Amino acid sequence: MYAEVAISLPVEKTFHYAVPPQLRPLCDVGTRVLVPLGRRQVTGYVLAQTTHLPPDISDKDIKAIIDCLDEAPLFDEGMLRFFRWVADYYLAPLGQVIKTALPPGINWESSYHCSLTPEGTKAIAGDSPHVEVLQAIDPHKGSPLKRLLKDCPSRSSFFALQRRGLICLEARVRPGRTKAKKAAFAEILRPPCSDDALTPQAQQIVAWLGENGRIPLAALRKQFKKATAILKGLQQQGIVAVGEEEVWREPNLETLTREEGPFHPTPEQEAALEEITKALKANAFCPFLLHGVTGSGKTEIYLRAVEEALALGKRAVVLVPEIGLTPQLVGRFQRRLPNEIALLHSGLSAGERYDQWRRVNRGDARVVIGARSAVFAPCRDLGLIIVDEEHDTSYKQEDGVRYNARDLAVVRAKQEGAVVVLGSATPSLESFYNARQGKYRPLHLPFRVGGGILPQVEVVDLKGHTGGTQSVLSPPLQEALARTLADGGQALLFLNRRGFSRSAICADCGAPFTCRQCSVSLTYHARRKVLLCHYCGYEVPAFQLCPRCGGGEIRLVGYGTEQVEEAVQGLFPQARVARMDSDVTTRRGAHGRVLGALERGEIDILVGTQMIVKGHDFPRITLVGIIAADVGLNLPELRAAERSFQLISQAAGRAGRGREPGRVIIQTFFPEHYAIQRVKDHDCAGFYEEEMAFRQALRYPPLTHMVTIRVSSRNPRHAEEGIQRLARKGEAVLRGLRGETEMLGPSPAPLYQIKGRYRWHLLFKGERIGSLQRLGRSLMEEGRGFSGVTTEVDVDPLSML
Ligand code: ADP
Ligand code: ZN
Repeated sequence: MYAEVAISLPVEKTFHYAVPPQLRPLCDVGTRVLVPLGRRQVTGYVLAQTTHLPPDISDKDIKAIIDCLDEAPLFDEGMLRFFRWVADYYLAPLGQVIKTALPPGINWESSYHCSLTPEGTKAIAGDSPHVEVLQAIDPHKGSPLKRLLKDCPSRSSFFALQRRGLICLEARVRPGRTKAKKAAFAEILRPPCSDDALTPQAQQIVAWLGENGRIPLAALRKQFKKATAILKGLQQQGIVAVGEEEVWREPNLETLTREEGPFHPTPEQEAALEEITKALKANAFCPFLLHGVTGSGKTEIYLRAVEEALALGKRAVVLVPEIGLTPQLVGRFQRRLPNEIALLHSGLSAGERYDQWRRVNRGDARVVIGARSAVFAPCRDLGLIIVDEEHDTSYKQEDGVRYNARDLAVVRAKQEGAVVVLGSATPSLESFYNARQGKYRPLHLPFRVGGGILPQVEVVDLKGHTGGTQSVLSPPLQEALARTLADGGQALLFLNRRGFSRSAICADCGAPFTCRQCSVSLTYHARRKVLLCHYCGYEVPAFQLCPRCGGGEIRLVGYGTEQVEEAVQGLFPQARVARMDSDVTTRRGAHGRVLGALERGEIDILVGTQMIVKGHDFPRITLVGIIAADVGLNLPELRAAERSFQLISQAAGRAGRGREPGRVIIQTFFPEHYAIQRVKDHDCAGFYEEEMAFRQALRYPPLTHMVTIRVSSRNPRHAEEGIQRLARKGEAVLRGLRGETEMLGPSPAPLYQIKGRYRWHLLFKGERIGSLQRLGRSLMEEGRGFSGVTTEVDVDPLSML
């Protein structure tokens, strides 16, 4: 008997191994196995069991499975079908996909271990070459090669020493770090009798155990002195039994709960729910796009839809952009559905995550709330998937398997015959387009709950207000802040500042310099003093006259949240100002603490990046200030306008959610830009029309698909040569495709150098995803032959950075 196995390493093909007789009952599809691969032992996943080998493999090349690592499968045939889809679509090795889908840290890993031979031990005292390497090795136990390489980064010296017989290198395999947690429990086996002659303390413990039943040993130790010794006696007498049992690690996620509801649904909520319920009862795939303005009660719909699914005996997965940023949503679910919720996201420790995952796998938790990886949650009988804030870019994984969880939610729902609800106040252009095409069923919530009105939006032209504090906080925003503070309201100040190369605008008129062929902003490259298009490679010298007004001076725009915080505090020394961005919130639970303080009214003004604008519902916020709308608009990205529209709308949506009406002030150098004008008028549909026209004109997604090929290398010349070779190959393939698919580039990536690696990319776009994928596959194949150059592929890329 043989097993087909995918390896948890970036290798494309699968392998066949013989299954030894004693492992046969264990090696089911979906279990992990330890297998030999070259000189190493690695973790693999059983994909199938067969009695025959494929014709191109001969029996004598077959090695045997070393061990089976799971008592029960981690995935079933249904999930495997999903994994295969993901691997095919995103051009990723199947083993990598499975690894991404399973909880982290559970796999066995092998690494080299280095120890001294007797000759090596003798040589330490001498003056042989590389003696310092010998000295670094632990003389008794040996040392891991990885640690030794930190001090002596030359691999070749190790192999030289090995050849001379001074050291011995062996591959060692280590079990996964993440395991089930076990705890000891004590319980009464039989009641004591008069012969047992118990001490008073022993009697006390027995009485206590009698009252409380099975008790963790740790609790017993806390209650009684010397409990361990006494228990040992009781165990010997056969009165008490102590045993081990698996325990859950409870994630301590800070959630915000507030008394609310139960509400009577508004007519719009009712209508949407009716459609979702009908679809759930039909037991068939049905995708919805729930487009509801901020504060229209989308979360209430999610809750009721999940309750409905549970009532029908199904399970549900709720995807949220970043769980740490949505303590309110998690709190609301936990209060409405106590004991049903499992949380899956990277903010948990590996152990907590493993436990939550197993609770889902066993069926103990019927609702999963999680970030993007929760789309792989091992839910059986999946009836409903919800994707909250479906437009959010954090659904896209930007390394390893570059999947988009929003898109995969739809695929998974289709495979399982489930209902999927994509919800947003500002749907992505993709989803909007799909709804237009009749692929998604639209649901609308056009009004705020309780007759609340959308905030009034004012646009401040920064061109009039340059210099010093004024360019950070314009006089109208200063006045609005003063008024808000006087009225006892709260304000959010939002700056979408992402830390990377700065964009260039004309100092006279504020116009950004854009590419003639691509309509995206050019990025300033200080070293070469050029303005460069990161899509097509077009460049101009940085000493340009502004094409709009003829001005001769270029300004680089850019300052961060910290400056904003300082400026605010300087102007309003008495105000309680806080800041929230990734610099402040790297500590666990920090988001929850800041948002909790905001909820309790302990903060007057909160300054922050996009993490302050996501979905929060704080009724006392009456003012939202967008410090520099242009920061996002000028990004060298195809989706710059869409992203800006979404973010600014989201930010604006935080204002005026309570009884007091809200006010939004947008500061910009470019007040006439359609993204800003449409936010001002709360005109989502209008924005889509304009943006879609732009995409149509340039044949960009969602009308086409894109695939990016990126190479990187520590050697800039190798990176460039690599991309040139791929470009030639790409051109050759394109000639066969006859015009339908286009190649853009090659050009250096906007973030040209990251961690010492130089990056170039090639972009392909076309209507047929199949052609693009075939192209991607052949270029990846070609790229595998390059030495010192890494080739990566991104299907449906979101970011071009
Ligand atoms: P969204 O997710 O669309 O921004 P929420 O679901 O957060 O909106 O709802 C906004 C506010 O309205 C919340 O405070 C929520 O508790 C409340 N709410 C939702 N539905 C109703 C309803 N039917 N009646 C009264 N209040 C409601
Ligand atoms: Zn260009």
